[in-house]
Amino acid sequence: MSPSSTPAARYERFRSEVFTGLVQEPGLLGGWSEPMPELQLQSLWFAGEFGMEFTTVDGERVLVRDFGVWNSGPGPDFLNCAALINGTVVQGPIELDPDVRDWERHGHGANSDYGNVILHLYIHGPAESRAYTRTLEHREVPQVQLRPEMLADGFIKRERMAEARLGRCATPLASMGEAAVQSLIEASAQYRLQRKSKRLHQCVQVQGREQAVYQVLAQALGYRSNQRPFTVLAQRLPVRRLLAEEPPAREALLFGVSGFLDNTPYDTAQAGTKEYLRQLWEYWWKQRSEFVRWQEPAQGLPWKIAGARPGNHPERRLGALAGLLQNWSKIFKPLKHADAWDRQRWCEVMASLHHEYWDKHYTLSAAPSNKPVSMIGESRVNEILANVVYPLLFQERPAVWQEYRELPALLDNQKVRRAALRLFGESPLARVFQRKLHHQQGLLQIYEDFCLEDDSACLECPFPERLAQWQ
Ligand code: SF4
Repeated sequence: MSPSSTPAARYERFRSEVFTGLVQEPGLLGGWSEPMPELQLQSLWFAGEFGMEFTTVDGERVLVRDFGVWNSGPGPDFLNCAALINGTVVQGPIELDPDVRDWERHGHGANSDYGNVILHLYIHGPAESRAYTRTLEHREVPQVQLRPEMLADGFIKRERMAEARLGRCATPLASMGEAAVQSLIEASAQYRLQRKSKRLHQCVQVQGREQAVYQVLAQALGYRSNQRPFTVLAQRLPVRRLLAEEPPAREALLFGVSGFLDNTPYDTAQAGTKEYLRQLWEYWWKQRSEFVRWQEPAQGLPWKIAGARPGNHPERRLGALAGLLQNWSKIFKPLKHADAWDRQRWCEVMASLHHEYWDKHYTLSAAPSNKPVSMIGESRVNEILANVVYPLLFQERPAVWQEYRELPALLDNQKVRRAALRLFGESPLARVFQRKLHHQQGLLQIYEDFCLEDDSACLECPFPERLAQWQ
């Protein structure tokens, strides 16, 4: 099938009319209408979400060749970076500030640690005047302004919900027949998978396949509330660095850099936990001075603990990440090349992960459970397949679409329920299209493309009229 005749391409053409000529405000895009935390901006930059090619404020072409490493000590944000600026290769650190004037406000211009900075990235600048970036030696540092429209397609997630009521499209959908509705929802699902795939491959290009896979696996372990802290942790402690350590030292780094170790009292810990903490501290106390910058409140990881179910507590998910690293070669090998993929074997490896401590503990402060709890349950493996594995493989091996279509919908999703209600109301189709994961994804895509773009209570939404073209 040629790329232009796939269901995804057909859906893309179907939706394009809605967006053609639409001027999208940054606020509408979820961009800078609200200040984005610096940590999140740094994480997006490091994951390649803004891309690799830029133009400086002075019109010079920039190609970032190496995004370097996240600095854990004093000085600029990222070290050992490399970029091609106007045809010349330059190597050195990169600094990212929310405001271009932060360079002077924070004293970087008078600090020799910033003397070799090759690129100053910023979000906001003064409207009326130009703020230059200069080093202690009065060298002008090239500046790049990061804008919301640079973000990879699919990054924007709108948090608002459309009203819970039957939509105007329910009548034409009901008269279309189940087969035509199914083809529409499958096409929108494939379009969504394609966008996820493109975004993940952008990260592969920037960070390399192994690190990109590790990063998105860590992100998936963050569930809904802790995806960003898990991503930043995986960016700060890259997989190759962790694999160079023995398991106890590796876990000490994970729990130390996450901040959980410093926040867990030793004296009041349960006996089994005391032993585990002692083992972690044996390594962490020797290493923690290297990471002091990340222990500052502004640099600490913003964990969301309140309301988390015990099984989803980030400490337990971090234990799962440690278990995953202990079996890394078995996890990554089938993902290294699309041809190596074997779903059954990979799922068996995921189901067999275990960890001496985390098999029986939900958190570092909870009493042990009576029986072992699986490290990564069936529904999480299902989500990882949907959000990591198939987006990774789809671009290289489109036939995995058939496997993707088989995934059951194991998790309840409020947005999906809302979308089904608006499109189908009480019709049996509302249930039919919530049983498979890809149908849920298709509903979500239509909901985001049309319902969340509509502010006329369906009256001006083009979706109902356009459905005639899908028949
Ligand atoms: S906004 Fe459009 S797609 Fe959404 S329910 Fe209304 S008519 Fe249907």
